Amino acid sequence: MLRLAQTDIKYVKGIGPTRASLLETELGLHTAADLLRHYPTAYLDRSKTYTIRSLHDDATDNMPHVQVRGRFVAFNVLGEGAKMRLVGLFSDGTASMECVWFKGVGAMRRRLRTGNDYIVFGKPSFFNRTLQMSHPDVDSPDSVDAGASIHGVYPLTEKLRQRGINSRVIGSAVRQLLASHATIAETLPQSVVESQGLMSLDSAIRNIHIPTTPRDLSAARERLKFEELFLIQTDTVMRARRRRGQTAGYLMPHIGRWFNDFYSQCLPFALTGAQKRVMKEVRADLLSGRQMNRLVQGDVGSGKTIVALMCMLLAVDNGFQACLMAPTEILATQHFQTISSMTAQLGLNVRLLTGSTKTKERRLIATQLAEGTLHILVGTHAVIEDKVEFRNLGFAVIDEQHRFGVAQRARLWAKSVVPPHVLVMTATPIPRTLAMTVYGDLDVSVIDELPPGRKPVVTVLRAQQQRPAVFKAARQQIDLGHQIYIVYPLIDENDKLELESLEKGYDDVCGAFPDIDVAFVHGRMKPAEKDYQMQKFASGKSRILVATTVIEVGVNVPNATTMIIENAERFGLSQLHQLRGRVGRGADRSYCVLMSKQNLAKETRKRLEVMTSTTDGFVIAEADMAMRGPGDIEGTMQSGLPFDLKISNLATDGIIIGRAREAAEKLLDSDPTLGSPANAVFATVLRNSTRRTADWSMIS
Ligand code: ADP
Ligand code: MG
Repeated sequence: MLRLAQTDIKYVKGIGPTRASLLETELGLHTAADLLRHYPTAYLDRSKTYTIRSLHDDATDNMPHVQVRGRFVAFNVLGEGAKMRLVGLFSDGTASMECVWFKGVGAMRRRLRTGNDYIVFGKPSFFNRTLQMSHPDVDSPDSVDAGASIHGVYPLTEKLRQRGINSRVIGSAVRQLLASHATIAETLPQSVVESQGLMSLDSAIRNIHIPTTPRDLSAARERLKFEELFLIQTDTVMRARRRRGQTAGYLMPHIGRWFNDFYSQCLPFALTGAQKRVMKEVRADLLSGRQMNRLVQGDVGSGKTIVALMCMLLAVDNGFQACLMAPTEILATQHFQTISSMTAQLGLNVRLLTGSTKTKERRLIATQLAEGTLHILVGTHAVIEDKVEFRNLGFAVIDEQHRFGVAQRARLWAKSVVPPHVLVMTATPIPRTLAMTVYGDLDVSVIDELPPGRKPVVTVLRAQQQRPAVFKAARQQIDLGHQIYIVYPLIDENDKLELESLEKGYDDVCGAFPDIDVAFVHGRMKPAEKDYQMQKFASGKSRILVATTVIEVGVNVPNATTMIIENAERFGLSQLHQLRGRVGRGADRSYCVLMSKQNLAKETRKRLEVMTSTTDGFVIAEADMAMRGPGDIEGTMQSGLPFDLKISNLATDGIIIGRAREAAEKLLDSDPTLGSPANAVFATVLRNSTRRTADWSMIS
């Protein structure tokens, strides 16, 4: 493979310079090896020819692509403008069907003749009870590749298709290349191939493009997935080991006055077992002399804030400053208030820095940071701006880490000569497999226990038509002294229509509860207005809060017992879970009502029913991933991977990820630097394939 990696793709037979430059710009394929690594995403069986009669009998929605041999009897161009289509009546003597093109109508009409023999290849379906194929491939019988009966379907772009580079062109170039190349040399260490029982690279590449049997194809896929994930895991484990060995961190051995006074005088409850465990894990890091990079995963409401605060107090006890960053102003403000009020009697100097902090306060913060008299700085991204200078930042907490970009986290390091200890807190329950891949170089602590007395939030699905009953139940909660959240999806804060529907929703709520003060928050409000509205709700003056997802993370009003989520079908499961986490924070039974339209698609209903059947964030995250793929999570996490995945899938290949991880650890146990001759080829492949722009072990 290393030699193929040095052959420019333009020298591959059937490619040439023009196609090569298109493949480069459109798909990023530069070399012959890149071409072989451009795997088909589906396969077409052209080994069999069907009769149209048999399709009439058998065609269902699930019919695969099939081929039929016959002649066109007539052509008709129907409709006009954008609706124009070409309909060819195709017959093979047993029956007839329609071939329909909505695009390239003129070109197809010019190319095809009635009376000639053709092989038509496509997916049969019934439209208005007429058997048809839409956009089939049409070839003359002698131009269809005889060599391979199972054809790969390659991912391509529209531009490539327009320039005549289709799956067949790629497929035949690949076949030429494979035929002319003796054996593709193995890339993985032989020990790994053997212990994992993997197909050789040569067989795998040949079978992924031209499968001989379904079994070989699946062995090929498994081998290629393993290889990809093994590269990632080896890279991750190597980095993690290097970091643990190298990066010096501040020693914080003392437990002093701040921590002790807080623990004995201010802590309003007993810590849960899980909270204690995480504290111990952090303590051990602070005694190690190495820099801590720890992720704390804990479901919403599991009590991460108190853990963060106690960690910061330890830093202060050792003469350091600490900071806590949150992704939104509302959250930062809330953390600030929680921390200030919990520590009020201690005389700790805590300040808030956000985009809307006044100049005078900013100056004060700057002075106190420089003097070292400011103990804990709470804030938004404002905290990591260049002009914010600490005297000795020793401990940084990042809340809801997935909202912080990689680059922003990297800036933390510039704040201190020795990098501060970093504690990242997330309530997004990332399934283990994903965490292993993405956070492979962070140490992970889990708060897997909720504070005692919490009752699971009763969750129900209701249609618009049931709104009167829903509002009646809400009214009962209000009469009991409780508060209500009503959340609208405002996916795009700049979308006028969505904003209008939110405002209309607010008016409707005010109309239905005329005697009640309704607070109203959305992301486009001025921070001061937002604060005012949130404050109204938090203080209990407003019994109802109409809001967008700005309240999604972290907001804490224990007296709120009901959350009504409008158009729930428009939210992802993880987001619904986060939202639901805003209720059920006090001792009272809480409710979450998912409002949706009457007729939901089956899939959508199934998705929402996950919410009504469990409150376990991890179960929900797994279900979300299984149903939608890693989606959002992957989008924000991909930057953590050293390269894009070609064949494996973080959501569904958990077992292979686990195997790859174990194998990587084993390999590095025996050869920590991959310096042994037996691993030389693999070491080179690893070096070439990892294009980490940012070093994760150094940023979070
Ligand atoms: P999250 O992990 O979602 O950030 P918070 O830190 O906001 O959760 O905590 C949720 C609520 O639980 C807060 O009101 C907090 O005071 C309370 N809490 C935290 N730890 C405990 C505990 N050990 N016992 C009782 N209540 C707790
Ligand atoms: Mg929180």
